Amino acid sequence: MTHENPVSETLPSAAVSPLQLQDVPMSSPDITAVEMRSVYEVLTSPNLSMGSKLPAFEKAFASYIRMKHGVGVNSGTSGLHLAIIASGIGEGDYVITTPFSFIASANCILYERAVPIFVDVDLRTGNIDPDRTAEAVEQIVHDLPGAKCFLPPKLRGRARLAGKAPLKAILPVHTFGQPVDMDPILALAEAYDLTIIEDACEATGSMYKGRKAGSFGKAAVFAFYPNKQMTTGEGGMLVTDNDTWAALFRSLRNQGRDEFNAWLNHVRLGYNYRMDEMSAALGLAQLKRIEELIARRAQVAEWYNLRLRSNELIKIPTVVPTTTRMSWFVYVVRVSPQIDRDGLIRRLKTVGIPSRPYFSPIHLQPFYRERFGYKPGDFPTAEYLGNHSLALPFSSVMKEEQVDYVCRQLLRILAEMAAGSKRVVSRA
Ligand SMILES: *Cc1c(COP(=O)(O)O)cnc(C)c1O
Repeated sequence: MTHENPVSETLPSAAVSPLQLQDVPMSSPDITAVEMRSVYEVLTSPNLSMGSKLPAFEKAFASYIRMKHGVGVNSGTSGLHLAIIASGIGEGDYVITTPFSFIASANCILYERAVPIFVDVDLRTGNIDPDRTAEAVEQIVHDLPGAKCFLPPKLRGRARLAGKAPLKAILPVHTFGQPVDMDPILALAEAYDLTIIEDACEATGSMYKGRKAGSFGKAAVFAFYPNKQMTTGEGGMLVTDNDTWAALFRSLRNQGRDEFNAWLNHVRLGYNYRMDEMSAALGLAQLKRIEELIARRAQVAEWYNLRLRSNELIKIPTVVPTTTRMSWFVYVVRVSPQIDRDGLIRRLKTVGIPSRPYFSPIHLQPFYRERFGYKPGDFPTAEYLGNHSLALPFSSVMKEEQVDYVCRQLLRILAEMAAGSKRVVSRA
């Protein structure tokens, strides 16, 4: 009996729903019949895991980033965890990273009982500040008096082990798809023998000085959650040029099995961080469309820019000159401090427009405050961005009419709020 393919019969082309101005989604995957057929094909095969799709996806993705190896995992977070393990980072070690990110980029350090050392960010990009990073590295490595102020408040009293610098790595995050200023970070890593792990989870396809984000560190991690530039449902990918690390990643994601050993031979503590075949097939099909997906997102960002750039109550995203290609992950504007950002989010919601504060800095998350003693004021730039940023609905399938609707409502509400705050001031 042959299987009928319901995909080709009921969904001959991309499913197009009638255009909705209200209730435009915050984000949306961009799935066509090509992706549906690829996943369907896997479902009719005997291999739903550990088949041929994953190696094909890994090879294609590594070659897209121009790295030697790709190792697929079941999330970006899993990938970050494995990169931390491969770096030999353990209890009490320090890893420099940013507080203005998705929480996974700091949590992966805690998984191995190491300590994230937060460094405040560049106001323009929201990325880790290279000058401040250099200061942190120098103070910590040479155990200077200024080192303490970079440590989490609750660890500042801790005595240092004689002669041992616990600083092992820098974990820069290419926030919102804009690459970190990598040259000074790479120079620091070279000078102080630090490992660079790039969190490129928001930056598939971005370029720094003509080179892909994710090709600078000893390893980099990409993520494919449905709101990212391309998706596998859940999923992530490690890339590296290092043969030993690639083999280690494959072993760690697969219960610590040695690649060349028998199925039940476990040579190290491993995990089940494998990516299944449906996800890999979806990823492979999405990767073939990646340039189109990135171009569509750039077009949507441009529609927003055109409508919002001349309003003095909001600041559109800044793309710095070293970013030779911005691969837009989200569209985040900065709202003037005179506007109550959370009130704006509530008012947008009443006209069917979702929006989010992006990001809420990691050091102020309840768990980090409790564990490390952080408080407001510790990283002023990250906090300023966290308090005034506003992510608007954004995806590659967004239509110009939807952008238009969002912008018209946003500008109207902003004008009303500004007039309201003026009235309050003049009455006072
Ligand atoms: C998406 C993302 C991750 C990984 O997320 P997963 O949901 O685990 O795939 C990690 N870091 C950053 C900065 C991200 O945006």
